[in-house]
Amino acid sequence: MVETRMLIASQRIPLDQQRSIPVTSPIDGRVLGHVSDASPDQVTDAIVSGEVAYATWRKVSGVERSRLMNRLADLIEAEADAIARLETLDNGKLLRETKAQALFAARNYRYFAGIADKLEGRTVPLDSWETFDYTQREPLGVVALITAWNSPMQLLANKLAPALAAGCTAVIKPSEIAPLSTLELGRLISEAGFPPGVVNIITGGVEAGVALTSSSRLGGISFTGSVATGQAIAQAASRTLVPVTLELGGKSANIIFDDADLDRAVPGAVAGIFAAGGQTCIAGSRLLVHSDVAEEVETRLADVAKNIQLGDPFDESTQMGPVASGSQRSRILSIVEEARKNSRLLAGGSTPSDAVLDGGSYVSPTVFADVDPASSLAQEEVFGPVLAITRFDTEEEAIRIANSTEFGLASGLWTTDLTRAHRVARELLAGTVWVNTYRYSAAQAPFGGVKKSGFGRERGLEAIDAYLRTKNVLIDLSGEIRDPFAIRS
Ligand code: NAD
Repeated sequence: MVETRMLIASQRIPLDQQRSIPVTSPIDGRVLGHVSDASPDQVTDAIVSGEVAYATWRKVSGVERSRLMNRLADLIEAEADAIARLETLDNGKLLRETKAQALFAARNYRYFAGIADKLEGRTVPLDSWETFDYTQREPLGVVALITAWNSPMQLLANKLAPALAAGCTAVIKPSEIAPLSTLELGRLISEAGFPPGVVNIITGGVEAGVALTSSSRLGGISFTGSVATGQAIAQAASRTLVPVTLELGGKSANIIFDDADLDRAVPGAVAGIFAAGGQTCIAGSRLLVHSDVAEEVETRLADVAKNIQLGDPFDESTQMGPVASGSQRSRILSIVEEARKNSRLLAGGSTPSDAVLDGGSYVSPTVFADVDPASSLAQEEVFGPVLAITRFDTEEEAIRIANSTEFGLASGLWTTDLTRAHRVARELLAGTVWVNTYRYSAAQAPFGGVKKSGFGRERGLEAIDAYLRTKNVLIDLSGEIRDPFAIRS
């Protein structure tokens, strides 16, 4: 039995047939179930539930919050396989990836469990001796956590773990494309012992998202998704002045210098674009290669791309599964058709002809060379297995091209020159720079974007800041009667 009902105030909400959304599997187009398209009233119910719970949750000690979060992590670890299977059915990602992401989510809850009881303020020495001034770090209240379909468990953990550690309550809205693992997580949250209403989960699409993000009752909003939606949310929040964290798209550059170890760099480039079928915000979708090694890199990459094993994401030997939906496949293929006109196609460029893959939303691993850095293929996020290779001759040129998009989420560079590694890392306009690796995620390392990739940081010590505000408390110890019109300092 797949859980498809929303969770509000610890109650599962029965599906209203008039407002339901089918959830289909991209593996074979099968309908997995129907979820509610939450009405504005239901969205308000979820926020109210979070408000009611917050009144007591804010007084729960950090030690207790930490205990509950560790318990949740235990449960996720114990059920990682089942959660991963559900997520793979839902979004088509490889089972080994969704399993790793479920475990990464558990790691995130543990990491922030370790922070929940260490949210210290400071005492602030003022100019006057006869004062006592201190700060307190307080939770924001009810926060809205909205995620994309590509990595539901992991993206949610990036938000929910610091939110719970900070003492916030939450209204979660997963993507309508892949909501099932999040709804299942609701069961584990209840089982872990979180009080009713601390975590509420609603489902739905744009209407539900708009109702949620336009509420002035929220203490904060954390969003992961596309730039267009991020802009809509920022606009809604400009009216309510609710603080927002945005984790948006990317067009990340992976740079291979002429001194790179190509035996590491080529698999690094493959990981950047073909892992998860390129459907990650951090995809290294632009490969910048020094001209002296370009031919060899292109040949090797084309060879790998042509031999990538497409197929059932549940099969251990599969290297790339389907993309998330039929409409996503059509979108990717139309970008590829356009790119054919002015770039050199080295591999892929179509749907695979294999009959075994019939019915699934598959796209062949695609590599283009000689891509103009100003072209739409080099500038716009594809969110699919399509690599754009551009050659460069100097370090300055590589940096200039790398920084020439509207995005700034991640970047990679491959070199054996230590000085160059640090020098280039400083110059790249990106929230993350990987050196001689790509797609390395850690609960401890802050992650986020610059420019249109968004603002705010998730993971790491910085993440907690998005869910706390600082209160300053000043006590006059003098006991004196003061002139009410004099400036006090
Ligand atoms: P999307 O923006 O279409 O949807 C994301 C979420 O927002 C969904 O839950 C959706 O229902 C909701 N939503 C849609 N319109 C809304 C509105 N007007 N107000 C409030 N909520 C609304 O994105 P997607 O297609 O699900 O995900 C793909 C995008 O996400 C890509 O651009 C990708 O780069 C980005 N992404 C970013 C990160 C990151 O950490 N930076 C991670 C994963 C994905």
